[in-house]
This record gives sequence, structure tokens and C-alpha cells, in this order.
Amino acid sequence: MTKKVIIIGAGVGGLSAGCYAQMSGFETEIFEMHNLPGGQCTSWKRGGYTFDGCIHHLAGCNPNFLLYKMWQEIGAFPTRSVLFPEHMCQVEDETGKRFNVYVDLERLEQEMKQLAPQDSSTIDAYIKAAKVFTTLDMLDMPMLDRAGFLKRFFKMATILKWGVLMSKFAQKFQNTYMCKVFPTIQYDWTETPLFVHLNMIGNCHSKNYGVPAGGSLEFAKAIEQRYKKLGGSINYNAKAEKILVENDKAVGIKLADGTEHRANTLISDVFAHSTIFSFLEGKYVDAKVNKQFAKPKDDIEMGLHVSLGLNRDLSKEPRALVLFLEKPVKIADKERTKLDLELFGYDPSLAPVGKSVLKVLLNTSFTYWRELHKNPERYNAQKQQIAQTVLKLLEKRFPRIQEQVEVTDVATTVTTEQFTGIDSTYDMNWGFSDTLNFMRGKPKTLPGLGGFFLVGRQAGLPGSAGQARNTIKKICSSEGVPFMPKTE
Ligand SMILES: Cc1cc2nc3c(=O)[nH]c(=O)nc-3n(C[C@H](O)[C@H](O)[C@H](O)COP(=O)(O)OP(=O)(O)OC[C@H]3O[C@@H](n4cnc5c(N)ncnc54)[C@H](O)[C@@H]3O)c2cc1C
Repeated sequence: MTKKVIIIGAGVGGLSAGCYAQMSGFETEIFEMHNLPGGQCTSWKRGGYTFDGCIHHLAGCNPNFLLYKMWQEIGAFPTRSVLFPEHMCQVEDETGKRFNVYVDLERLEQEMKQLAPQDSSTIDAYIKAAKVFTTLDMLDMPMLDRAGFLKRFFKMATILKWGVLMSKFAQKFQNTYMCKVFPTIQYDWTETPLFVHLNMIGNCHSKNYGVPAGGSLEFAKAIEQRYKKLGGSINYNAKAEKILVENDKAVGIKLADGTEHRANTLISDVFAHSTIFSFLEGKYVDAKVNKQFAKPKDDIEMGLHVSLGLNRDLSKEPRALVLFLEKPVKIADKERTKLDLELFGYDPSLAPVGKSVLKVLLNTSFTYWRELHKNPERYNAQKQQIAQTVLKLLEKRFPRIQEQVEVTDVATTVTTEQFTGIDSTYDMNWGFSDTLNFMRGKPKTLPGLGGFFLVGRQAGLPGSAGQARNTIKKICSSEGVPFMPKTE
């Protein structure tokens, strides 16, 4: 008899699990609360413009790297085509002085040496380190076999020397401008380890990290199509409320409409906290799980999206901008000294001819928006106010932008919660081995519960899909059936 697998959630993790399970001969069914696939990997249309909510950089766009094979297996490539913008970003200080962070490392070296000639040796060391990652992708670990992982493990020991934070590394520059702008070049995450940035810029150089044209939802839909072609069944507007357990084994789910659905194995792609503490009522936890979810974090990076459809051609602009403001400005719950912009002029399919999408991304607090949302009038007024403030701030860099706006869209943490179920993030308190398992995309179970796996994560698409792949491999091995990944 064919064994049945139920998957809760049609994010990229859930869809990937579905694809690999179908390839290996299981009967599968996905239950998704929303009416679309993709989860966090999404975009939305407003008045002729497509506003994107996810992919800045997709790892695995180059056939010479391991992740490419995974995307091929699950049908994510080719969506339309992959784009490789020439900038990682451009930083501009209050005076308008610009640092072009090119992904071409020779060009970047020239730019940096022109801006900070006295820092030649620091720049040489930085470029040399980035070059290491032109042939090495830290995100491909879920695809490594045991021998590959051992090799990588020893390689990682040499990479850890670049664990210094971006802000700390910047202090090596004697040039005050470089000292100030350098920490912002990785999504303005000033306190992130340097190797995260080196990995990204090195892989952008080698065209292993790119952006699928057409937006994130198209990317997710391509995987959904592959799943359906493989014979998978997907139910939308189907919200799971409970995981049914008998004798400490997951046997099915109960939906919000009261129906029950049974299977031999259950996989949840839903944000881990909801799965563990809501669907399973916190019954399958130990000290480690409790510790991982002990500290909710109220702040979220990129939690507030101000998207603008502009009657303006941005095709000659860099793909991202960090703009230092002349003086701090309060936007929503925080004082801001910079604005982080994404400019989508590099993908003409997202806007009508000659027009473009521009987005400002801000970090924000869950509580702030949850409280505001209790009063819909104030919530909507605040969203409008934010859009106006942002537009005024952009006027200096983009003259006449206020007249050129055709569509405005502000998405908050409440929007994210409604569409994905994510209502907080957590300080995971992970030790070395947990971090390593996470990076390797090891299958995740809960203590004392059989027939059940968690997939998916907030840290990136390759991690979600890679963990799903490894989970199905593990299920195949326990069921004594061959794991059969294949391309179309
Ligand atoms: C702003 C932003 C930018 C990002 N940029 C990048 C990037 O550039 N590159 C990259 O690789 N990654 C990026 N990511 C991360 C990436 O989007 C996520 O890691 C990935 O999409 C997570 O997929 P998932 O399947 O694990 O989870 P999710 O996408 O969260 O999917 C979970 C699914 O479960 C569904 N669900 C929830 N509750 C229920 C329920 N009760 N019943 C049924 N279904 C339910 C949700 O609707 C959703 O579809 C970004 C994320 C964000 C938010």
C-alpha cells in the first residue's frame, strides 16, 4: 500500500517536501491556509505593478554549484530567467558621496581604492577573502554528503577568522568615509559577521547568487506546478488547527472547518513555534526546545515594506541603496538615521513600460503594529503617514518623486502574520552543533513524537528546500524505499 504523507503549509519548504515525496512514490496532500503558494516567498500586484516581498538574492543560480541541482529537481528553474544586477548596493552619505558596491570584485577593488587610497592593504585583504567565496557557497550544506561535509567542516575552520562583525571590521579603515559606510553594505546589517557578507558578494561575483525575474511568487508557483505535475494534491484556504496524535504518533490533522485528515507521516512547514505550542499544545518539548523558544524577539528586520509604483525609469539605478539621512527621522516605532531602498529597475517585468518599483524596507516591532491594528482607522492612517514621510525623504535623491507615485502599498508585521502565521521571532540560543545541524538542513523531529517532522525556517529558501529534501530522504530510509530525486 502507498504510504500517505500530509504536509501543513505550502511555503517553499512544504512544496519541496511534497515534490521529493511524490518523486519517491509517496501519496501526498498539502493543506495551506492561504489561497496561494509560497508563504514568505511572495509578491503581490497593485495597479499594474508587482511588489516583491522576498528574494533579494537566491543562492544556487549557477550550474557549477550544488544548489542549482536542487532547484532543477523541484522545477524552480527556469522561472523566466535569472537576473544578475551589477551592484550589491550603493551607499550614499548625507552629502551625496557615493560608494558603488559592485559585485565584480576587480571593479569593487578599484572603487574602494579610489575612495580610500590609504587603506590599500585592508582592501586587498577584504577582496582576497571575498575571492575565496567565488567558488564556495556556505548555503549549499544541505546538499553535501558525509565526505563533502567533512571537507567543508575543515574549510569552515579557516573561514571563522572572518567572523568579525561588519561594524568592527570597518574600524580597520583609516579613511573616515569608508569606516562609516562599509558596515551598511550587507543589507545594512551592521552587526552581522563579515563572512556572511563575503559569502554573498563572492557568490554574486560568480553569478551563483541572482534574482529570478518576475518576482518571488512566480518562483514559488513554478515549484507548485512541479508538485502538481508529479501528482501532488494541494488544498488552499485549509487552515490546520491541530495535529492528531495517537500513542505518541502523529496520525493526522484537524482543520479549522472541523474536518480531519489522516496519514502515515505528518510534516509541518508552519513556523515552528505555532506547530509545537499550538498544533501540538506544547506536549512534545524538552528543556532544549523550551529554551529555544523562551525569548520572543519583538523586533524584526525588513518587517515594514513601503512599496511605490513610480512613473519613473529606474533602470539605470543600482538595485539597492543605503541613504544616510541629514538628521534622524521617526518613522513608525523608531528613529531612523538611514533608509534602505530596493530599486527594481533591473526587472522590467515588474512594472509597465518606462515605469518602476521602488521599495523602502524598515525594521520594526511586532507589538507596535499589533496594538495599532486594534484600531483599524489609526492603523491605516499610520500606514499612509509612513508612506508620505518616506516620499518626502526621498525627494532630495529622486526629485519629483512625490508627483510620480501611482501606487503606494505599506505592508506591516500584521500583514506577515495574516499571510504566514509568523507573529514573533526568537533568540534560538543554539549551540555549535545545533547551528551546524541547521546549516546542514538536518531533518527535525520533536522529542517523544513519532511519524512527525518539522521543515522550513526563516533563514532562507535554500535552507527550507534543502531541509525538506533531507527529510524525505530520511523518511525513505525509515520506510525502506529508495529516495528518488529527479529533474523533469
Ligand atoms: C522580507 C524577506 C526577505 C527575504 N529575502 C530572502 C532572500 O533574498 N533569499 C532567500 O533565500 N530567502 C529570503 N527570505 C527568507 C525566505 O523567504 C524564507 O526562509 C522561506 O520563504 C521560508 O519558507 P518556509 O516554507 O520555510 O516557510 P513559510 O514561507 O513561512 O511557509 C509557511 C507556510 O505555512 C502556511 N501556514 C501557516 N499557518 C498555517 C496553518 N495553520 N494551516 C495551514 N497553513 C499554514 C503559511 O501560509 C505559509 O504558506 C526572506 C524573507 C523575508 C520575510
